[in-house]
Amino acid sequence: MTEIERHSFDVLVVGAGGAGLRAAIAAHDAGARVGIVCKSLLGKAHTVMAEGGIAAAMGNVWQEDNWKVHFRDTMRGGKMLNHWRMAQLHAQEAPDRVRELEEWGALFDRTPDGLISQRDFGGHRYARLAHVGDRTGLELIRTLQQRAVALGIDVFMECTVTELVKDGDTATSTDKRVSAGGRIAGAFGYWRESGRFVLFEAPSVVLATGGIGKSYKVTSNSWEYTGDGHALALQSGASLVNMEFVQFHPTGMVWPPSVKGILVTESVRGDGGVLRNSEGRRFMFDYIPEFFKAETADSEDEADRWYEDKTNNRRPPELLPRDEVARAINAEVKAGRGSPHGGVFLDIASRRTPEYIRRRLPSMYHQFKELADVDITAEPMEVGPTCHYVMGGVAVDPDTGESAVPGLYAAGEVAGGMHGANRLGGNSLSDLLVFGRRTGLNAAYAAARLATRPSIDDDVVRAASERALAPFGIEGGENPYGVQQDLQEVMHNLVGIIRREDEMRQALDDLTKFKERIGRLSVEGHRQYNPGWHLAIDLHNMLLVSECIARAALERTESRGGHTRDDFPATDDAWGRLNLHCRLDGDDVAVTREPLPEMPDELRELFG
Ligand code: FAD
Repeated sequence: MTEIERHSFDVLVVGAGGAGLRAAIAAHDAGARVGIVCKSLLGKAHTVMAEGGIAAAMGNVWQEDNWKVHFRDTMRGGKMLNHWRMAQLHAQEAPDRVRELEEWGALFDRTPDGLISQRDFGGHRYARLAHVGDRTGLELIRTLQQRAVALGIDVFMECTVTELVKDGDTATSTDKRVSAGGRIAGAFGYWRESGRFVLFEAPSVVLATGGIGKSYKVTSNSWEYTGDGHALALQSGASLVNMEFVQFHPTGMVWPPSVKGILVTESVRGDGGVLRNSEGRRFMFDYIPEFFKAETADSEDEADRWYEDKTNNRRPPELLPRDEVARAINAEVKAGRGSPHGGVFLDIASRRTPEYIRRRLPSMYHQFKELADVDITAEPMEVGPTCHYVMGGVAVDPDTGESAVPGLYAAGEVAGGMHGANRLGGNSLSDLLVFGRRTGLNAAYAAARLATRPSIDDDVVRAASERALAPFGIEGGENPYGVQQDLQEVMHNLVGIIRREDEMRQALDDLTKFKERIGRLSVEGHRQYNPGWHLAIDLHNMLLVSECIARAALERTESRGGHTRDDFPATDDAWGRLNLHCRLDGDDVAVTREPLPEMPDELRELFG
């Protein structure tokens, strides 16, 4: 085998979004030698697309706000399936993480008295999202990136990790990409530009690879979200929790087709926008679930008064959690009351002045003007649900972020547990900061405690290279783009926003066929910048993650949060005590039921 490029770190962070950068900074601060690998250019991660803000109970706009209210909102939004300890740490630590960002140079919008301004979002009792216009993610990434670079952390850009390696792995034990070794020893990958391989040796690896949206046809996610970290963790022996819970954001663009799925931020509704059907009716009043009735306005007058006086009025139903709004839009379209292109109308033009809209929502204004030729200050937008976020992810220890595999950590969207059955808007950016930091620190401490470093067998590296190159050795096989399109179609049609047993069984049959097709993928050309080859590698991950979603969704015979069953429309208390974990069993995904961690009484009391 030709000599392959090698690097050695104490902590390797895979992913340079908010979670990865925050983890790397923390690990560096704890004294570790840290490397960051990312599939795209630094600064291009998903986090940069985040618009609305970072949820943190700072109490700047509403003094009544505190971590307990934020904790309660998060658990209720997650339909009580969240890991209580993660939700607690998140609510307690988010304000410090926002203030720290400001100390590092982030320029947040201000209240009239000069405090960090906070805006309303669905499911949050008080205005709680610290923001920078509707470009909060950009500011967050800019700040963390500058700090990481200033600290001298090594960054490997446009470099994709394809496998994790463990101490004691042998070429045979990793034959089917399922690793049998002990502690994490490092990661194997390739440079996207040259196609050359690279090995990172590290006793602690932090996965911060984001989500899985590219398994679906209509999504707000970019090409990078192919579930790599989810698949890498599974193949190393970790489990994924809550995979049936996929968030369909209620408002994605629906027209023109080339931009279908692109996000329309929830801030439009937070700033006064309302949803109407083709009859002009504010239909969300027809869809207020029992669970949220006490705190939701039941008339347009009260809902409109709430924007000015939150103490004496209840929230508009447009600001119910995302799962509720997405289902309502779906129902209106199905009932024939949709907009011309299969969505509904989101109207802020008739409710706020053009100046206000352009100031509060500059990106949305430009997005619609440039991509759809719609002036949102003068006419309504057409919107519909889009696959946006995965609540499910690597099961981790809440305090340290470590998975069941020693030395393997996960933070950010790739980690599971924090958001339960449904994530509240703004709670992802705060999650990245809180758990990115915790995970980075603990990964560094663990590496420092090791007496001997794990080792990697050359044969394991050779086997990983052969697996990556396999599509070049097959002539006239399947085209990766065709397989990707078919996979997205199956997930969209059969395991989408509304699910049924017969359709999911059909999806699982189809996924079995995809396994054969993916085994026959062939690519043409060279290893130098070859997107077809890159996709051929990513497809293994997309398929594995899709199988986890479909199997867990079939198993959960109730509707809850981001999982809606047409054949089991009610929420079932017995299921409210159970999480589903996916693990790899040979080539297949096995799903097991596991009891929820017990919430201590002092937190339980917060729910009355
Ligand atoms: P990312 O930011 O996606 O970073 C993933 C990183 O992993 C990237 O660097 C990628 O290159 C790298 N990577 C992936 N696979 C590999 C691999 N195999 N090898 C090497 N590197 C790899 N949340 C909020 O809280 N508030 C908001 O206002 C908000 N708005 C949003 C708007 C949009 C349009 C979208 C799509 C999401 C929004 N979200 C928001 C959600 C939030 O942005 C994401 O959940 C969050 O940014 C995920 O961060 P992350 O660090 O986990 O992953």
